[in-house]
Amino acid sequence: MSDSFEVIVIGSGPAGYVCAIRCAQLGLKTAVIEQNVGSNDQPQLGGTCLNVGCIPSKALLDSSHRYAEAAGHLSDHGIGISDVTLDIASMMARKEKIVSQLTGGVSGLLKANGITVITGTATLNAGRQVAVASADGSSQTYTADHVVLAAGSEPAAIPPAPVNGDRVVDSTGALCFEAVPQRLGVIGAGVIGLELGSVWARLGAEVVMLEAMDQFLPNMDEQIAAESGKIFAKQGLDIRLGARVTGVSVSDDGVDVTYSQGDASETERFDRLIVAVGRSPRTTGLFSADSGVTVDERGFIFVNDYCATEAPGVWAVGDIVRGPMLAHKGSEEGVMVAERIHGKSAQLNYDVIPSIIYTHPEVAAVGKTEQELKAEGVDYKAGTFPFAAIGRALASGETEGMVKILSDADSDQILGAHVVGPSAADLVQQIVIAIEMAASTEDLQLMVFGHPTMSEAVHEAALAVDGRAIHMVNRPKR
Ligand code: FAD
Ligand code: NAD
Repeated sequence: MSDSFEVIVIGSGPAGYVCAIRCAQLGLKTAVIEQNVGSNDQPQLGGTCLNVGCIPSKALLDSSHRYAEAAGHLSDHGIGISDVTLDIASMMARKEKIVSQLTGGVSGLLKANGITVITGTATLNAGRQVAVASADGSSQTYTADHVVLAAGSEPAAIPPAPVNGDRVVDSTGALCFEAVPQRLGVIGAGVIGLELGSVWARLGAEVVMLEAMDQFLPNMDEQIAAESGKIFAKQGLDIRLGARVTGVSVSDDGVDVTYSQGDASETERFDRLIVAVGRSPRTTGLFSADSGVTVDERGFIFVNDYCATEAPGVWAVGDIVRGPMLAHKGSEEGVMVAERIHGKSAQLNYDVIPSIIYTHPEVAAVGKTEQELKAEGVDYKAGTFPFAAIGRALASGETEGMVKILSDADSDQILGAHVVGPSAADLVQQIVIAIEMAASTEDLQLMVFGHPTMSEAVHEAALAVDGRAIHMVNRPKR
């Protein structure tokens, strides 16, 4: 095997493997280095997303949703199911099968594109030399014209609640409980807390979420966050805001979590505790001091708008650099970098990256929130429309939530969309396309939306921006 490549990508998550495939498509001699090894002693590709992130969590969200439907929510439809049983081992086996199918798929894609996969832990040294340490203790050095750092992130830790892999787990542990905990504590009511808290609540756990911030989902549009909070409370998620965990004590019987809320100090006993307080970039040992790579004040690898680091020929993409920690953001950065390495002037519109919380209903957003527009002094218009007035939503029994569209008061250009409700992820994707095409709300108003669809809520919200929604009484516009 040659030890010199045009491009070496470190990390095979969605940022790294997509970058490598695009590099290979552009004719560049490419290698991917991955440290994660599977049970078959082969590199386990796909990173956090495929192995312990997006995919397994969505598999469990889907399974648990079906269980909750079968166990009770279908009675409104006149469907009664008796003797609904739960086989966690089968549910987990299904999840693992999906993971293997997808990680195997990535392996096949890399092979088909002629990409060399190297197993081991990589360190970037000066002069784009990459040292790879193997599990057997051996080491080999490779060089490349371009090196792309795509080493991803790992769960953040907090001192009062060390993860022990048993009673106290991070997101990875929470994806493989062997039984439903009776009482489940979750530290952090962010995306992971809500998604994995929902999984176990649907399967029967009593879930208490301890969130340090006083505000629920502070980065979301405030109106949508408030609406979502009400829906989750109705589902039985006990979300306690302004709760600062001060100590965790593990015993044979459970885990006691002490937290302060205002002036009060409380202690709750749980069977299991998930720590979901964010993720940190995985930079330890990734590059040497003389590699030329630097980090920003938050510990992320410092890059410019095009993901170039301060070291010539060294790039960084995905969770390891600034911006939202989302698989699709990393993948598109990977494509942009591959194109730039090939000499094209690709760029990424960081203002139009959708984000989704895959609860039921989903919560999804793109672009500016109403509070951001206010803070920026932008003169804007807002239109909301509730799913309760959408025929298809009623027919499906999915009437909670709303679509909200924000646009510029002068130009009418769409600036943001926020949805909590059925198919929120797919509805927001329509607005991603609209914003990328510089559409106005008038464009959406003039389009024909199929009936009966959830998408009609997008149409009506666009009409509501100008006080002309059809299927509700419009409030006078300012
Ligand atoms: P990673 O996926 O973390 O991959 C990095 C890879 O680099 C790993 O395989 C690692 O082993 C390897 N590596 C690290 N250091 C080295 C080294 N020195 N040498 C060799 N290899 C190395 N995002 C979404 O968009 N949608 C979702 O629904 C979603 N759900 C999630 C659910 C959970 C529970 C979690 C934890 C995350 C979720 N995410 C989701 C976030 C998403 O998983 C990440 O944003 C994404 O995986 C980041 O991709 P990446 O390629 O930057 O890094
Ligand atoms: P997050 O930032 O979404 O939420 C963490 C929460 O923990 C925040 O609300 C924060 O205020 C709270 N917190 C922090 N320290 C705390 C403490 N000491 N006590 C109590 N609360 C505390 O992070 P996450 O949920 O861990 O997810 C990590 C990353 O993974 C996110 O950036 C997210 O983008 C990504 N992710 C995405 C998806 C998705 O796209 N659907 C799903 C899962 C994870």
